[in-house]
Amino acid sequence: MELSIKPIGTIHSCYREKFGIPRQPGLVKSARGSIELLPPCDREEMFKELERFSHIWVQFLFHEAVPDGWRPTVRPPWLGGQKRVGLFASRTPHRPNFLGLSVVRYHGLRREKGSLYLDISEQDLLHGTPVFDLKPYVPYSDAVPDASSGFAHFSTRKVAVAFSREAEEKCRSYQEQTDRNLLALVTEILTQDPRPASQRASTREYGMLLWDVNIRWKANGEDFMVFAVEQQRE
Ligand code: SAH
Repeated sequence: MELSIKPIGTIHSCYREKFGIPRQPGLVKSARGSIELLPPCDREEMFKELERFSHIWVQFLFHEAVPDGWRPTVRPPWLGGQKRVGLFASRTPHRPNFLGLSVVRYHGLRREKGSLYLDISEQDLLHGTPVFDLKPYVPYSDAVPDASSGFAHFSTRKVAVAFSREAEEKCRSYQEQTDRNLLALVTEILTQDPRPASQRASTREYGMLLWDVNIRWKANGEDFMVFAVEQQRE
């Protein structure tokens, strides 16, 4: 059967490029975003009683993975980037239909300038991601406490993150202007070491875009140092 489906919404996210996005939802609590609903799904009645749920499932398209295609096997980061597993034994964005699935925290509906938004947090989603479906997360069935997960467990390794005085001040003044807690967000992201497994020993400089701010950092021994926080001109 062939069926053509259209997005019901679009993700607005603090993550403006792929690098730096956590590997799963729930890992970075300070990540904030929303889902802008598109017609005909921009009607409040379609979300009646959803406020009873703390979390929702988001089904989406890994739209930025499409140009690179997919391969039958991949090297997941949880195996240190060394060993290959089948793509269906992984959560890689590079899949035959490029479909992703994430549980995110739900904060409620908001109508702004005529558009309807669902406010979310803890997402692992890129800004602009097309959304295909939403449904409540129901822990009595969806949470499987005795499930085993191969080697894909949460890394307990935590990197210490330091900021130069100037970088820290920029984060604070950005928060005053925008109410976005940049210091907490950057710290949570870097603590988990977003570098690819092959670059674990790298001391080069990295940049990542969060909202309209470029964050520049590098490894300093075992720790990371954020040395510049540069607001982009829009
Ligand atoms: N929880 C989802 C996603 C896991 S992969 C699932 O299991 O299906 C997570 C990675 O997807 C992130 O690190 C980010 O780099 C990437 N990603 C997020 N949104 C994307 C998009 N729209 N296009 C391509 N890659 C994306």
